[in-house]
Amino acid sequence: MSSKKLISFVFPVFNEAENLPALYLALESVLTELDFEAELLFVNDGSQDASLLLLQGLQSQDSRVKIIDLSRNFGHQIAVTAGLDAALGAAVIVMDADLQDPPRVCLELLAKWQEGNEVVYAQRRTRNDGFFKRLSARFFYRTLRKLSDIDIPADTGDFRLLDRRVVDEIKKFKEHNRFLRGMYSYVGFRQVAVQFDRDARLNGKSGYPFKKMLKLASDGILGFSTYPLKLISRLGVLASLLALGGICYVLFMKLFLPQYVVEGWSFIVIAVLFVGGLNLFMLGILGSYIGRIYAESQNRPLYIVRKSYSRSEGIES
Ligand code: UDP
Ligand code: MG
Repeated sequence: MSSKKLISFVFPVFNEAENLPALYLALESVLTELDFEAELLFVNDGSQDASLLLLQGLQSQDSRVKIIDLSRNFGHQIAVTAGLDAALGAAVIVMDADLQDPPRVCLELLAKWQEGNEVVYAQRRTRNDGFFKRLSARFFYRTLRKLSDIDIPADTGDFRLLDRRVVDEIKKFKEHNRFLRGMYSYVGFRQVAVQFDRDARLNGKSGYPFKKMLKLASDGILGFSTYPLKLISRLGVLASLLALGGICYVLFMKLFLPQYVVEGWSFIVIAVLFVGGLNLFMLGILGSYIGRIYAESQNRPLYIVRKSYSRSEGIES
């Protein structure tokens, strides 16, 4: 065994048969420049094409290739999770298998890691996607940053390097509706960006149709923000204030301009406004309890320690 450190590369693969050979070639030329051992973990996420066969072919030539074949399509975030769970490296690099994340950038990620950073995320300087994808991504990241309790850097995907310490923390997150980008931010540690130009997908079409994008966006917002629940209480307060205004108006009409008031009108209007406001307000209270139950059931670690220092023992942990 050589004493070089092991770096794991994790690739989620969903119908990427057309891209895998090119990916492997590009990767190989980068790997020869590295002074590390490498394992290439391909997670086949229920591909319908020849991806698995191709991967098996690669594996027969290259023992660094490892394949995790999921029983069906579980989605990108779960596929990456399966890869993180299986990775053994001192650092793990997660990247797409469609060559949108250029393997060359890994050299920069590793350089920053060696400087002592624990998460090195690749940030898109430019991207080569369609207009709609760019617009929706921009809108989504802006909204998420406004709504969520933690700071998710703009223009980053899942392409990043994670130190072993960070991977071990991410593995403690057992939530089902996963939004990994949120978790990477949540765990903290020393994080730094590397800028890169995102290429267009080499071949094939995106495995993220609009429906999957919406699901990811809602996992991001619902998983990392209770703003939608707070919105109910705020609407409740607003409706109650409106009801109060309405009640004043109705009373004014009844007392000073009774000739314009239809019999029974004031009572009905007051009742509708009051009950409506009260309803929303009470829903808001329910919502705040549900928010707490939700946070408890996510059962995330309360805090994460990078290292403890103790003089008496002289032991580092
Ligand atoms: N992917 C996956 N499961 C899916 C969808 C996508 O493992 O259900 C993989 C895909 O093979 C690629 C990465 O996730 O390696 C990113 O997907 P894609 O390129 O389709 O998304 P986009 O770049 O268009 O956002
Ligand atoms: Mg892609």
